[in-house]
Amino acid sequence: MDQTIREQTIRTASGLVAAGLLPPGRESEAAAVATRYAIAVTPIVAGMIDAADPADPIARQYIPDGAELTTAAWEIDDPTADAPFTPIKGVVHRYPDRALLKPLLACPVYCRFCFRREVVGPGGGLLSDAELEAALDWFAATPAVTEAILTGGDPLMLSPRRLARIMQRLSAIPHIQVIRLHSRVPVSDPDRVTEAQVAALETEKALFLCVHANHAREFSAPAAAALRRLNRSGVVLLGQSVLLRGVNDTSEALEALFRAMLRHRVKPYYLHQLDAAPGTARFAVPPEEGLRLVANLRGRVTGLAWPTYVVESPGGGGKRLVTAQVQAA
Ligand SMILES: *Cc1c(COP(=O)(O)O)cnc(C)c1O
Ligand code: SF4
Repeated sequence: MDQTIREQTIRTASGLVAAGLLPPGRESEAAAVATRYAIAVTPIVAGMIDAADPADPIARQYIPDGAELTTAAWEIDDPTADAPFTPIKGVVHRYPDRALLKPLLACPVYCRFCFRREVVGPGGGLLSDAELEAALDWFAATPAVTEAILTGGDPLMLSPRRLARIMQRLSAIPHIQVIRLHSRVPVSDPDRVTEAQVAALETEKALFLCVHANHAREFSAPAAAALRRLNRSGVVLLGQSVLLRGVNDTSEALEALFRAMLRHRVKPYYLHQLDAAPGTARFAVPPEEGLRLVANLRGRVTGLAWPTYVVESPGGGGKRLVTAQVQAA
């Protein structure tokens, strides 16, 4: 298929400069970052960026910064500690009743604050057919697990054929009651939510899709259409966001984000405290500040718009509510 430059995902520092998304003086710094952490900016995301604004909250999420090459003392490669909870390649089983299936590690965009940044990338960790079947066999053989959570990378990057295969195999397991997907595709590359992709999701199980979005402006017209297609097909839509300095670190920005989600039938589920992945310190918002921002929403906006504010415990302890105690810890 013929594609013009404008229709292609930008994957290099020089491409960002050519598109006017990075000042030429920062190209070599961004190229150095790209040797370690992949760049991807889809056309739809490029179109959301106000290049004239040096503090643009969309650009901040995707445009590399030299600071990424500095690892702070407290930052670690696998902050959610997936590795020790991996019974078989592609599966993470930390909680008794649910487990993650990571069929690939590619994403439509690469977020500069990603907690899995040491493993995600375009080369991306696609499980072989045999590995995928073995991972699905693990779900079939583990009756305590009643919820399968497809994540990655981004499961909506799979071909409809492969996604349908996973959905059919999970749907055929009697003890699986709920299937959940975590995805950034509906906002960052909504054209991938084709009729074929929606059809691939067909299941008799309860199906939830948790959309990752951090700013109200991510809900573009194409994103709205993609979310509508998903909603029409019976998928329950949830939202997850990361609290990020310079992106959504005001009550106003959070209010606008959660209201945008609700307008698109997305129920805010989690607001995550930033995980301490390498080179992400510029995005950190202290939990006591996060608690204040979240408290400001109470009374101001409908309870439908309140997510649960959570933090990942270090060393694989799982998610905890952010409370004044977390703040003291
Ligand atoms: C976050 C996470 C889940 C899902 O947790 P919920 O609180 O149910 O959303 C499951 N497994 C792992 C390993 C996780 O990190
Ligand atoms: S979409 Fe998710 S997994 Fe992919 S780079 Fe962004 S935060 Fe990481």
